[in-house]
Amino acid sequence: MRILLISIAAYKTARTAMLKTPASLSLLYLKILAKKQPGAFVEVREFFLETSVENIIGSLDGLDHDLVGFSCYVWNMKKVLELSRYLKQRYPSLKILLGGPEAGPVAEKILERNGHIDFVIRGEAEQTFVELLDTLNRQGDLNEITGLSFRSDNGTIVNNPERPLMEDLSVIPSPYLDGSIDFSNNAYLTLETSRGCPMRCRFCQWSYKKMRYFPIGRVLKEIKILCSLPELQSLYIVDSSIFYNRQRALEILDAFSVPERKFSVYFEIDMNFIDEEIIEKLAKLQGCKFSFGLQTIDPEVSRLINHRIDPDRFKNNLSLLRKKSPAARISLDLIHGLPGDNLASYKKTLDFAMSLFPDSFYLYPFILLVGSEFYRRRDEFGLEFEDEPPRWVSSSNSFPGPDREEARKLSYYIQFFYNLPMARKAMDMLWISANRLRPIGHVELYESLIVFLEEDRIDLMAAWEDVGAGGYERFHLVFKDNKEKENAFWGMFGEFIKKRSRELVSK
Ligand code: SF4
Repeated sequence: MRILLISIAAYKTARTAMLKTPASLSLLYLKILAKKQPGAFVEVREFFLETSVENIIGSLDGLDHDLVGFSCYVWNMKKVLELSRYLKQRYPSLKILLGGPEAGPVAEKILERNGHIDFVIRGEAEQTFVELLDTLNRQGDLNEITGLSFRSDNGTIVNNPERPLMEDLSVIPSPYLDGSIDFSNNAYLTLETSRGCPMRCRFCQWSYKKMRYFPIGRVLKEIKILCSLPELQSLYIVDSSIFYNRQRALEILDAFSVPERKFSVYFEIDMNFIDEEIIEKLAKLQGCKFSFGLQTIDPEVSRLINHRIDPDRFKNNLSLLRKKSPAARISLDLIHGLPGDNLASYKKTLDFAMSLFPDSFYLYPFILLVGSEFYRRRDEFGLEFEDEPPRWVSSSNSFPGPDREEARKLSYYIQFFYNLPMARKAMDMLWISANRLRPIGHVELYESLIVFLEEDRIDLMAAWEDVGAGGYERFHLVFKDNKEKENAFWGMFGEFIKKRSRELVSK
């Protein structure tokens, strides 16, 4: 059987653009597992969200596979459905398989709405995938595969029983230790050391899934191999909460603290699980990036979303990390539009976050993820959204549409300025000077800048429309091929700084 597994990565960055070998760990696991099936030939192809369906189709011309599988996320689902529909029309005997967090929780709905999809894997895919290949190979009974939804021969949709979470992760092969894949040209890779999450955030698909761990010996060996890759520039740790198991985390941090490591490691960190000893270790990791999910500091919103944050602890730990490692790159994540949230509380959180002087922000609008508790309880909170991915929530009981638009715009602009180091520095200096006269929030200052720029009709929001669900990060589109606009922007920005500085002097 010839199998093609396709991943469509969120968006191209300088690092991922240099991909030579697919970096989608989940598909590489499947590839290695499938190789053990008699007669199976498995190929993995990786594309980017901004690549048009026509171009992807062009590069798949002459497809001679029996099964095409897609890894589905909220950002790529639209494209996956479009592409798979086309492939089925062009190659009617081709079987289409979907899996991943955007497909599994709504498997039945996907099969009902999309007649071209044959199979959907629900939950962790590895064992279900192997059993599916085996069953197809010997023309066995699909009803026996737990975790699979499929369209039967008479067209009815069948949802087999749930598959329990895998207890023993060691049965999943390591792409880095397997030896069959050449990563020597990859600039960007990912690593998974555990699965599950002990927390119960209601907006998240991972909410409360039992923690399981890849054997620590295997992880340490993987890190050693990764440290020997000549082109590797950036490694993203995909774990929900790597510091939940303190002892393992300390061993992993030690393994990265070696002179052979030339790449930067990107950690997502839950502040609830770090202490001074871990901060000391993190501080020793030169050139690494630490991302913290703050989301909100409003106690009522925290309670409703079930995301524990202690603002004082957050601030103290971050200050300590900054002090110990001034060069550490710190990024904060905030979500606006969550149940219970409103424009005023969002601005308060944003002010708190900006007062910590992070290096970058990810200011996301609330996206309703299938499989999350809020998806199930959407009516209770009056969530309004288009029931197609990416499922932005446009309004809720506490956050009406116009306020949500204002929050989105403010978030967009702040991230835009944080991506222009000169502008950000000038704004920070202005804030410091202004604060000497009277307490002023960062948000207030940025809002006055936005009003000033808009008076002169400098439209910086266009990039948002261009980028769509793909990502806030692609601010380079704002001035793409438009030097005139860029010059006009800098002229206006300079005017604003001068005007506000004059006002300060005159007070
Ligand atoms: S947001 Fe993070 S901490 Fe909360 S459930 Fe999801 S993965 Fe776990």
